[in-house]
Amino acid sequence: MNKLSVYQYPYMSDNYGVLIHSTTTGETACVDCGDANATLAALTKMGWSLTEIWVTHHHADHTAGVEDLKAATNARVIGPTPRSQPIAGVDTALDDGDSFSFAGTIVKAIHTPGHTKDMINFYLPEESTAFTGDTLFTMGCGRLFECDAKTMHTSLSKLTSLPNDTVIYSSHEYTLANVKFALSVDPDNAALLARAKQVESLRADGKATVPTTLQEELDTNPFLRASDPDIRKLLGMQDATDESVFAEIRQRKDNF
Ligand code: ZN
Ligand code: FE
Repeated sequence: MNKLSVYQYPYMSDNYGVLIHSTTTGETACVDCGDANATLAALTKMGWSLTEIWVTHHHADHTAGVEDLKAATNARVIGPTPRSQPIAGVDTALDDGDSFSFAGTIVKAIHTPGHTKDMINFYLPEESTAFTGDTLFTMGCGRLFECDAKTMHTSLSKLTSLPNDTVIYSSHEYTLANVKFALSVDPDNAALLARAKQVESLRADGKATVPTTLQEELDTNPFLRASDPDIRKLLGMQDATDESVFAEIRQRKDNF
């Protein structure tokens, strides 16, 4: 358990990249690469050599640096099965339920369409860690660019079925805006109120609000709380399906 080290670094205006390293085997993976120089700088800082690039989805802030990084490091590129736009440089394409071994630990691909059709998330059960890309954020979820709310709701359900102590790494620092929105639909949630304070002080100190845990998200992320009676009451949707409550919450966030 916890054989791997994770180093998170910011790039562009609000993206997070991560390096995942095994001191035992010397292998290092990164999740996404929107900027090859940022990933190379992180590798230099840690003194690690890249062996794999894991790509979550085709958007440029996650892929623009992949080919340069691959050329600079000879790393193998593992990415999603193309469903809308292909990703240049991918050596191995994964689909839902596919798995591979990294530094002696199993990595499972979870297909979570919603933000994009191709999105995959990387789940390391032995490390109790998931890399959720632009699907599940700290107190938020990805915008629906290529799929409908029903599809995203199903994808988020795959993530909420992971163990509650799973550590969730996501790809953007959107949390301050997410908290403000969360409070608008779930204003009396004590866990959310407490977390809002925590997040404000972290951000005031320039600290990351990623990673989080699935349990924290279940308690405070409105996109995972469509079954909550207080949220339903506020929305006037007591008798609606979870799916349609989720769709309403997503739409409100888009217009917030
Ligand atoms: Zn994206
Ligand atoms: Fe993104």
